[in-house]
Amino acid sequence: MNIHRIETGRVRIKENQIKRTKGIIPPMLNILFGKKWAEWVPIYAWVIDHKEGVIVVDTGETHKTSIRGYLPKWHPYYAFAVDFDVKPEDEIGPQLLKMGINPDKDVEKVIMTHMHTDHAGGLHHFPNSEILIDKNEFKNASGLKGLLAGYLPHRWPKWLKPTLIDLPNDRYFTFNRSMPITKDGKVMIVATPGHVANHISVIAEVDGVHYFLAGDTSYTQENLLNEIPDGIGTIESVNTLKNILSFSKFNPTIYLPSHDPLVPKRMTNKEVIPFIEKIKLSKN
Ligand SMILES: [Zn+2]
Repeated sequence: MNIHRIETGRVRIKENQIKRTKGIIPPMLNILFGKKWAEWVPIYAWVIDHKEGVIVVDTGETHKTSIRGYLPKWHPYYAFAVDFDVKPEDEIGPQLLKMGINPDKDVEKVIMTHMHTDHAGGLHHFPNSEILIDKNEFKNASGLKGLLAGYLPHRWPKWLKPTLIDLPNDRYFTFNRSMPITKDGKVMIVATPGHVANHISVIAEVDGVHYFLAGDTSYTQENLLNEIPDGIGTIESVNTLKNILSFSKFNPTIYLPSHDPLVPKRMTNKEVIPFIEKIKLSKN
């Protein structure tokens, strides 16, 4: 089994979205009216090359985000708080073709960590794959309610009929709810609520190393280590970060969130999540 990273362009958001700021102003207002933009960051999607078939995790963004009228600019988040830079050749479809994988017929499953546009923008490349989405996330992201919450359900492919998943209460190390995706149990879905209420992550084990395809559990590993939640998530964010850190104490884990510019370096060096104790010591 191999794990490949695909960068489907870049996104720019506000500093206050990356890290939650303390204070009495609601986090969303801090994001909308925050003056400080963060640096441009990558938008990653993932390919798990497994003997039972190719599994894609998240689909990245589409170049259509730069076409006038595609994004709902009446929505304050899209008007004030996000910018995309995605070229047609950055999309996941053409990039898979270049790797020798035909998205039309070679991808068995697509697993969505959640349905935000920078993860769901490439769904149209997979008309013949089984698409797995958490059932409550799909509900929350659909229709007018979804649109008001910042999802773009009207941009999903018309043919989209996902397999709705409802993670059972099966413990997998520190995660309360989980489900294997492959028969050998080497690819698991785990519940990682926080960034959105029903966010899920995928853990793929290759030779004892756990590749943690984290979606948006945090934007960076630094925020994971410091247990700093993002500016839009629910109260459960910090618990999820703690669960990931505890998991990494039992298992060597390479943490791969969707927007961390240090992901390529960690993959090349097979850099696992360091023990917290070690970090505290090194600060003294
Ligand atoms: Zn997101």
